[in-house]
Amino acid sequence: TNRPSLKPSFTINNSNSTPSNPIPSKTHPFSNAFHFLKPYLLSLHKPILSAWLCSALSVFSLSKLISKFSTISATATATAIDASQLLVLGCLVITRLVASYGQHALLWDAALKAVYELRVHVFERVVERELEYFESKDGVSVGDIAYRITAEASDVADTLYAVLNTIVPSTLQLFAMMTQMLIVSPVLTLISAMVIPSMALVVAFLGQELRKISREAHLSIAALSAYLNEMLPAILFVKANNGELCERVRFKKLAQIDYSAKLNKRRMKAVIPQVIQAIYFGILSILCAGSLMISRGSFDGYRLVSFVTSLLFLIEPIQDVGKAYNEWKQGEPAVERLIAMTTFKDKVVEKPDAVDLDYITGELKFCDVSFKYIDDMPHVLNGLNLLIRAGEIVALVGPSGGGKTTLVKLLLRLYDPISGRILIDNHNIQNIQLQSLRRHVGLVSQDITLFSGTVAENIGYRDLTTKIDMERVKHVAQTAHADEFIRKLPEGYKTNIGPRGSTLSGGQRQRLAIARALYQNPSVLILDEATSALDSKSELLVRQAVERLMENRTVLVIAHRLETVLMATRVFLLDNGRLEEVPRSTLLDSHKDSLISSGLVI
Ligand code: ADP
Ligand code: MG
Repeated sequence: TNRPSLKPSFTINNSNSTPSNPIPSKTHPFSNAFHFLKPYLLSLHKPILSAWLCSALSVFSLSKLISKFSTISATATATAIDASQLLVLGCLVITRLVASYGQHALLWDAALKAVYELRVHVFERVVERELEYFESKDGVSVGDIAYRITAEASDVADTLYAVLNTIVPSTLQLFAMMTQMLIVSPVLTLISAMVIPSMALVVAFLGQELRKISREAHLSIAALSAYLNEMLPAILFVKANNGELCERVRFKKLAQIDYSAKLNKRRMKAVIPQVIQAIYFGILSILCAGSLMISRGSFDGYRLVSFVTSLLFLIEPIQDVGKAYNEWKQGEPAVERLIAMTTFKDKVVEKPDAVDLDYITGELKFCDVSFKYIDDMPHVLNGLNLLIRAGEIVALVGPSGGGKTTLVKLLLRLYDPISGRILIDNHNIQNIQLQSLRRHVGLVSQDITLFSGTVAENIGYRDLTTKIDMERVKHVAQTAHADEFIRKLPEGYKTNIGPRGSTLSGGQRQRLAIARALYQNPSVLILDEATSALDSKSELLVRQAVERLMENRTVLVIAHRLETVLMATRVFLLDNGRLEEVPRSTLLDSHKDSLISSGLVI
């Protein structure tokens, strides 16, 4: 498999193989998130040690201070802290600062690495998914996917960090302080502990609410992102149709929904710390109980002060636990939505014993192929039979919506037929590795896909992550009549052509697409209306480029133009899911006019 050129600064576990790090099917979303943390659990000893050092130092210096303070209050004779003690205390403080920094930096490192793995895993699964996932009527929108992989994955990092950060130091501090309290007064400890269960109950309830509300907040922002992803690429259309006002209204509506959802979430998040503050009531009750005990003579002021001080230092870790719980509940929907994208059953799958074909001659055979997209709808293709010999050029004409592109999708195995078989060189394409199949079958379609990046990267897309052969790029560009305009670009082959190649004209885009197909050099070439929308100036150049592209391979050309159709050895009409051969003579003699008037060729 190709390695991405972008190398992260740490060694990535397993991510060289596809798919990376499969997720076990556990029910709780966080067991999935923590699954990605596993490879880094061993490296967690450093932040854990730092955290412990931190907590130990805090606890140690605290208990020293507490005992000093209580001695002072008990004996009422103020003993000044001498220089050496001050030095030791200073060193302790500095060590604690360093250890604290280490703890945070290292915990973030672990959390971010786990999210990196999660992200890579989700991305791999998403790009692997069959086409239907993206283009069916209940398919996900790209904006939603983008939002999940970017922002929601970051939320997961926050959650992991918060949880790790709490589990380690706060719990330690919690236990240390509780022990101290127990030693001083078991009775008072019991009283103060009574506040906690009721508090925990309320917090747990609020946590469930927070989870629901967070989910809504995720949905609303994902909807906003999906909207922007659909609208902005269509900005030309929007402007040409005076759509700015209408888009503003649509955007505001979605933004308002997000506002309410976010506000609800923030409110709920703000409630939980307040509930935790109820621990102050605990302190109040301790003071009451303590003073009662003192008045009865079963307790003394020195121990009460010591106890309450310990209790005060308990508030911070308890609040941290509350915060982590908050983060946890808030992060759950993000993890769920990410994991939901990775657990699926595709219909188009590669067989384990699928073969990798080195070379094919390019003979294509469709045997009784039937297909429909939606179960209770009529067939798009119905019992289709076709044999295309290696090196032959076959044209396909037919009314729009007749199923021509669908046929192409089946040949590329973007969908599988409901019945029938498609053979390449007598291999059922279902027995060929998908990679191998799509290497041998090249597609140039009407809506040309270009990426932001240089001209060379777009032409040499096949080798994008390995090494683009510049000689080859230039050679194919010349063959495709693209070299001339590329040289005139500001930086030649190194010119960035903008998002989706937006800086190029239609004819230029087409010639780039042809050059890219030449670079790929497939044995079977499909031209799906690739030359349908041409401006007259570039028409000749593109047609010549197409002719060169067609040389020495099997070609299936879907076309509306008579001159393109005439390049074919045989012509077929696809209508109503059925295929019939159009005698070439029809195209040449008087019947031509009837074909033209029916709109099948122009
Ligand atoms: P052509 O390329 O001949 O114009 P297509 O193969 O694109 O036609 O479409 C054939 C039929 O299949 C059309 O009726 C179209 O509405 C339907 N169709 C195409 N893609 C999908 C899809 N993803 N889901 C459902 N129906 C589809
Ligand atoms: Mg089509």
